[in-house]
Amino acid sequence: MRLILATSNADKIREIKEIYAPLMQDFALKILAWSELLEPFEIEENGTSFQENALLKSRAVFNALKAQGILEKRDIALSDDSGICVDLLGGAPGIHSARYSGGGAVENLEKLRGEVERLGGTSKAHYCACIGISSAQGDFSAHGFMYGKVIAQKRGSNGFGYDPIFIPSGFTQTLAELSGEEKNSISHRKIALENAHYILEALFKSF
Ligand code: IMP
Repeated sequence: MRLILATSNADKIREIKEIYAPLMQDFALKILAWSELLEPFEIEENGTSFQENALLKSRAVFNALKAQGILEKRDIALSDDSGICVDLLGGAPGIHSARYSGGGAVENLEKLRGEVERLGGTSKAHYCACIGISSAQGDFSAHGFMYGKVIAQKRGSNGFGYDPIFIPSGFTQTLAELSGEEKNSISHRKIALENAHYILEALFKSF
């Protein structure tokens, strides 16, 4: 069985593989990035929610595998649409997290850090991840959240994206100061993947 990740974000691919490594042992499952099977193509993320965008991505990859004639009967395409929502910014950048500044990840982080500074130095915030699953049995999704706060000073060098300014509830360190293992034990992605695992298990049993 193959789980084809409908993302080209190397950080997400790494975290998904780390989180699913122990969970997937039982199913002799191969985890691949879509770029290992398909020529890259643009997937327009024009949904209005994490869920809509996640399903746009997983469906687009599933359909492309089918159109290329390389879809195997039990293939599942899995996507992650995620972002950070800051309370004092009315939930921004939210679904626009990847393109918040119009530049790359460094510029996005700097823009949000500057906004938090302008707002007084801190705000409640949360990360959201929605996992999209597309299969021969249809489309499914699962969410995960991680609550905490954002600060106006960058700390730490682990993780990616907005992690240097996000402190999860119950911690004093930013996500970028925690180890990958620690982040993966509490993250929005881990919780969403754990919820998605129940859907995957049901699909595997139905094949
Ligand atoms: P997507 O690829 O459209 O889902 O956008 C995800 C964006 O949200 C990333 O590029 C990051 O900016 C941000 N993001 C999502 N998850 C994380 C995380 O775990 N840490 C830091 N930033 C994240």
